[in-house]
Amino acid sequence: MSELSKIFGSKVFNDAVMRERLPKTAYQALKNTIENNLSLNKEIAEVVASAMKDWAIEQGATHYSHWFQPMTGLTAEKHDSFISPTSDGRVILEFSGKELIKGEPDASSFPNGGIRATFEARGYTAWDCTSPAFVKNDTLCIPTAFCSYTGEALDKKTPLLRSMDALNKQGMRVLKALGNTTSKKVIPFVGPEQEYFLIDNEVYKARQDLIFTGRTLFGAKPPKGQEMEDQYYASIKTRVMAYMKDLDFELWRLGIPAKTRHNEAAPSQHEVAPIYNTSNVATDQNQLLMETMKNVAARHGFACLLHEKPFAGVNGSGKHNNWSVGTDDGINLFSPGREPHKNELFLLMLACVIKTIDVYGDILRASAANPGNDHRLGANEAPPAIISIFLGEQLTSIVEQILERGEVTDCAQSARMQLGASTLPSFRKDLSDRNRTSPFAFTGNKFEFRMVGSSVSIADANFILNTAFAEILSEVADRLEASKDVKCEVKAITHDFLKDHSRIIFNGDNYTEEWVKEAERRGLPNARNMVDAVKVITTPKSIDLFTKHGVFTERELHSRYEILLENYIKTIHIEATTAIAMVRREIIPAVIRFTTEVATSYNEIKATGLPLSTSTQEELLSQISSLLASANEKVNSLEAALAKLDGQDIEAKAEGYRDSVFAMLNQLRNDVDKLETLVDKEFWPLPTYAEMLFGVD
Ligand code: ADP
Ligand code: MG
Repeated sequence: MSELSKIFGSKVFNDAVMRERLPKTAYQALKNTIENNLSLNKEIAEVVASAMKDWAIEQGATHYSHWFQPMTGLTAEKHDSFISPTSDGRVILEFSGKELIKGEPDASSFPNGGIRATFEARGYTAWDCTSPAFVKNDTLCIPTAFCSYTGEALDKKTPLLRSMDALNKQGMRVLKALGNTTSKKVIPFVGPEQEYFLIDNEVYKARQDLIFTGRTLFGAKPPKGQEMEDQYYASIKTRVMAYMKDLDFELWRLGIPAKTRHNEAAPSQHEVAPIYNTSNVATDQNQLLMETMKNVAARHGFACLLHEKPFAGVNGSGKHNNWSVGTDDGINLFSPGREPHKNELFLLMLACVIKTIDVYGDILRASAANPGNDHRLGANEAPPAIISIFLGEQLTSIVEQILERGEVTDCAQSARMQLGASTLPSFRKDLSDRNRTSPFAFTGNKFEFRMVGSSVSIADANFILNTAFAEILSEVADRLEASKDVKCEVKAITHDFLKDHSRIIFNGDNYTEEWVKEAERRGLPNARNMVDAVKVITTPKSIDLFTKHGVFTERELHSRYEILLENYIKTIHIEATTAIAMVRREIIPAVIRFTTEVATSYNEIKATGLPLSTSTQEELLSQISSLLASANEKVNSLEAALAKLDGQDIEAKAEGYRDSVFAMLNQLRNDVDKLETLVDKEFWPLPTYAEMLFGVD
């Protein structure tokens, strides 16, 4: 075995380890539980816990932890050691089935949107055996779902697992109605591509804004940004390469199949992408990936920035959520095959996705709403806030033929590429060009949802995709089950869905102003900011969808809405207080020191009595002092605005933060950034954009 294949998954209690270490009956029972969505019996849990403990101790673990994903969007862990004292003053190491299955963390200290009152704080974590346990920091981490004492989901995993159940149920109904007798399970898959910035840790530590908010609240544009297009795929700098290598190994040890690494469009921006997995495992792995990226960065003297928009004026970061739906026996429902026009299952599924996105696009948009993404969606880099689907030429032509003639007779075949030099290979071209501007693009055998922010959990995007798709599949299943001629009905459904929902297809450039107007004519929603986008969560449409498929109760949806608004308010509030502190305690004093020096120079020149010019000093003093006064006034009004919003109800407050505080922060930034260009760099208290973005060799 190669070194790499020995390392891969060495910290994971994966299938191979289970097969090796569990008695055959226990292994079969656990497999059965995982594969057939059953619940696990107590005796088996006892056996698994014991094997897990022995394995973890061999890996150096001293503790175990239920690892979960509360609505902070981060992961949470509380460690308990394996030790249990004996009567003779020694310890033995224990871990029971009960401890594996259930934990009881205090739920009141996590975001709960009013579901938990502090006096009834009990919460539960429950083992998710479909995602493997792993060892990190000498601790056995057990992926778990997290709920309140009354059973409400307080995390990201529970709804994701529920949505996978819903999709499985409806997907199987459709497959059965179509005569499939071999598939046992319908499963959603995800491959998330993760973008990030890597900057020097010394520079990071010198900026309060990066430390407290994850983004630069100030910073004048550097002489060079990304306009030369010389960053994307550029050769990787030595220090960054050392980081990437180390990161890959850490990820591989944790069983995360990191595959692709490259430089991204902005200076100091990079991407890492693992190979796809089931929605649940991919989501857990993405959380673990983000954590590992930060930890490895610290070892290399870097700070890893996962914020959606750490720097103004250059590309922000996102997470491309590559989504497909398949079966346990290897059918990818989104795979067009060699002859897509004859592939009725594919065409039906395509029509279903088109309907899903047209009907539930606004809810999907909400899944990408966070304060960081408000700087990104619609700016000239990420897809706009309007949801549409890119299909490419071949599929669009197929859709058009179905709509015009009811059948497809003509299907473009891919051409061969000849590059004109005899030594270069010829190869078959892809059927359509890439489109980088679409928020939801068909890319061969999957759909790439490109709106998700780089810092957030991909769970939201996926439980929404899975549930909405399940709903459309349930409609299909109803029709197929009631139909006498299934073949005919498949065609009819495909045609109906395409006829009613093809307005969502757009193959052009999503970045243009024309598209914004065109989308408005088509009646497509355009929620430009988080506060507007998340309103949809508590509408009857959303409540109907999620309650029907058992993914959320109405109360859970209300709680989530509240948590999102609270998060928005708190984020902008922290940005505002950080900005105020930076301006008052770093920037104003620095500017005053500099102007004092200029004024001294002015006075000294005057005092010589010689006919020397002091116009530079005068001009500088006049420009700087008026900007300084303006910045000072803005800081005062920002503070007043915060005080005014205090005590308002949550919706009004969120709107107030969006309309006044957010806007004032930008205006304050204008003054400060102009000051930066006028003040001697020796006096400027913050590392500059040039130092942050181009400082790593
Ligand atoms: P791009 O060229 O768009 O940057 P990458 O190669 O960086 O693409 O990432 C594509 C992602 O899509 C990877 O995580 C890959 O594993 C994933 N992927 C490939 N096929 C599927 C599929 N059928 N379902 C879900 N994800 C997939
Ligand atoms: Mg990529």
